[in-house]
Amino acid sequence: MSFKEVFDQYSWDEVRESIYSKTAGEVEKALFVQKRTLEDFKALISPAAAAYLEPMAQLSRKLTQKRFGKTVQMYIPLYLSNECTNICTYCGFSLDNKVRRRTLNDKELLEEVAVIKELGYDHVLLVTGEANQTVHVDYFKRVLTLIRPHFSMVSMEVQPLDTNEYQELIPLGLNTVLVYQETYHREDYRKHHPKGKKSNFNYRLETPDRLGKAGIHKMGLGVLIGLEDWRTDSFFTALHLNYLEKTYWQTRYSLSFPRLRPFSGGLEPKVEMTDRELVQLICAYRIMNEEVELSLSTRESEKFRDHCISLGITSISAGSKTNPGGYAVAPESLEQFEISDERTPAQIATLIRSKGYEPVWKDWGRFL
Ligand code: SF4
Repeated sequence: MSFKEVFDQYSWDEVRESIYSKTAGEVEKALFVQKRTLEDFKALISPAAAAYLEPMAQLSRKLTQKRFGKTVQMYIPLYLSNECTNICTYCGFSLDNKVRRRTLNDKELLEEVAVIKELGYDHVLLVTGEANQTVHVDYFKRVLTLIRPHFSMVSMEVQPLDTNEYQELIPLGLNTVLVYQETYHREDYRKHHPKGKKSNFNYRLETPDRLGKAGIHKMGLGVLIGLEDWRTDSFFTALHLNYLEKTYWQTRYSLSFPRLRPFSGGLEPKVEMTDRELVQLICAYRIMNEEVELSLSTRESEKFRDHCISLGITSISAGSKTNPGGYAVAPESLEQFEISDERTPAQIATLIRSKGYEPVWKDWGRFL
């Protein structure tokens, strides 16, 4: 059974109703029970759980240290291109945003790599818009061949691809693919993606299945918080993760929680999520799932990131530029969104150490 078939059995409104009607008793049961179900997860993300933030944080910290030790992995995004043939209402790279487009050539790419290496990174996340005519599988193959010798971990956040295309990239050293559903609310998804290949909700929803079939080492899921009710969207993310872990059990998984950020063009979030609510969500995911990696980007503020390091987060970016060429080639080109935490990777590493944690620059070695 594909995830789409699982997903089609659920009603957004019923799930939402069920989350909002959870009681304090159900939250307490979810906190103390040995083996948790998705109903327990609903209780942990419900409004009723807001009063249990402290015990949730303590449990999340304990479970994270049990599985991951006191470590935080460091990664950095490398934007390859801002070309995009989609319209997304929340993104600076949207086709209808009249800005200069660029895609890094080989020379520019290596200039960016040199700066990233100087910062100390060994794990890079390649990011592009979705422009199949210019930024396609052959381009990715060339990029992977060029940069793989410089990094021990290469992740990618680009347009969803077919299974055979992922199968062509994995042998070239692609370790991880991130694909965010943005929102699991079908009608709202259509409103935010009116034009381009991304408007195909089902194709995006089935991407993790294609990645699982291709045998990817790790994949990342998430939604864009602010587009729809975050609690309901987070339930569907957990449902998706649950299905994937059972179906593609050899793959590792990570989750991210991007909140809508200012960008060139501006979309106000439909739903505001407070810092306390984001902490609740991070803890809920950890309590529900001891294995999943939880990642935090520079979208979040300094204060918030400082606080989250010991709560359940296992990977963090620092010093990020969200424009192609942002590190060396063209620092002034268009950003996808504004970052919030401007501190350098060295400052973040120092901060992590000051909290008794170890910053990890290299996750794993394929040939060890
Ligand atoms: S979110 Fe992705 S697909 Fe949408 S406009 Fe931005 S870069 Fe393009």
